[in-house]
Amino acid sequence: MKRADAKTTAAAAAPVTKGKEKKKGKENYRPTRNACKLCAPLGAALAFKGFSKTIPFLHGSQGCATYIRRYLISHYREPVDIAASNFSEEAAIFGGQKSLLLGLENVCRQYRPEMIGLATTCLSETIGDNVPMFLKEYRKGREDGPPVVHVSTPSYRGTHAEGFHEAVRAVVESLATAPETPSREGINLFPGMVSPADIRHLKEIFKDFETEVTILPDISETLDGHLWSEYIRMPEGGTPIQKIRGSGRARASIEFGRVLSGQKSAGKSLEERARVQCFSLGLPIGVSESDRLFQTLSELTGHRVPERYNAQRERLLDAYVDGHKYVSGARAILYGEEDLVIGLAAFLSEIGITPVLCASGSKSGLLKEKLSQVTPDISKIQVEEGADFSDIEEIAAQSAPDIFIGSSKGYRIARALNLPLVRAGFPIHDRIGGPRIIHLGYQGAQALFDRIANALIEKRQSDSKVGYGYM
Ligand code: SF4
Repeated sequence: MKRADAKTTAAAAAPVTKGKEKKKGKENYRPTRNACKLCAPLGAALAFKGFSKTIPFLHGSQGCATYIRRYLISHYREPVDIAASNFSEEAAIFGGQKSLLLGLENVCRQYRPEMIGLATTCLSETIGDNVPMFLKEYRKGREDGPPVVHVSTPSYRGTHAEGFHEAVRAVVESLATAPETPSREGINLFPGMVSPADIRHLKEIFKDFETEVTILPDISETLDGHLWSEYIRMPEGGTPIQKIRGSGRARASIEFGRVLSGQKSAGKSLEERARVQCFSLGLPIGVSESDRLFQTLSELTGHRVPERYNAQRERLLDAYVDGHKYVSGARAILYGEEDLVIGLAAFLSEIGITPVLCASGSKSGLLKEKLSQVTPDISKIQVEEGADFSDIEEIAAQSAPDIFIGSSKGYRIARALNLPLVRAGFPIHDRIGGPRIIHLGYQGAQALFDRIANALIEKRQSDSKVGYGYM
């Protein structure tokens, strides 16, 4: 069968039904084999790394902290210190209060942090440790110590994306204060799980709009830093604690994430508690979603869009025209955090690529609805929430895709299907430069467009018997 025929046949058969949905009942139960998500405390630890001189602290077993450290280091290629209360057998049975208090004391003595970000793991959640009560005990006589911000992150309840957002919300709810005077200044930005390069680009954009911005959290330096001549326990960078406290005095907040817009968030919490108006936008990937960001900034600041961004936009549109014959009509498998998938789907729709499968390990119940807001025909897209990579593999095998777009966790499937994988998001463990991938704004879309078009060209080139040097 020719490839075009194969595509038509497969498309006619879509949507593909997952095996576990065919029949209900115990005999058809399928365990998670390779979840398309990571654990919730990992997301929380990542968020805490974006606050100045903050040490992430996991209440639970040592193995969780070791896995999360290793996972983050393999992507960011930076030292990532994560403390843990290191449950013993005794703590697992009788509770971890003693381990937690001892751990907090050790961390304060050794690191002298400005803040401790405390996330609970599956073990401490399962045994029902009353962490707020433990912290109340801990704070007695230690009122001058660094704030300890607690977030409840059992992985069986949420993914790394939820852990990330919950941690940011916990920090803001713990530290931000409502203003005593009516004067307001600056804008808060809640970018979500984006790369350090994305955050640096966002800082440039705000600077060009001559506007003070508080980015919560800011991993642009802490997770993509400089060469050190000697080990530094608490690297420079991250949102200063004073700025977190002052976020309640901002003129407005902007948060990225169409799914996040339908959930509790730090931005909405600040709106309720400190009357900081929150603007929820999609992750600004591609022209349309980036336009919304620039338009919002223009309205909030009273400045016109700086000329360099108009020029970037024009160059991007020119590139879309130049490259349309290579990308138009292609079929993509997209996977990752829900808001990243939605942002990428919006961008792909602009360049004529159909995201035939949009999959995420999260289960917000909002993915399909939000995708329908940014794509022209949702009926052409198979949407999978709570996805497992095994499901993705089965569906991809029947969907005749041309390309995979997502983290390096999809590499094995892409390789088995002999298809290119354009790496985006987190984690990227099999390449250098994950933290420097830029996804956002016209500049990010330009970089993604070139990478996707070139991956499709390279595939055609390497599949060709002739070996064209001019495509
Ligand atoms: S036990 Fe839970 S918290 Fe620990 S690594 Fe596994 S999923 Fe994450």
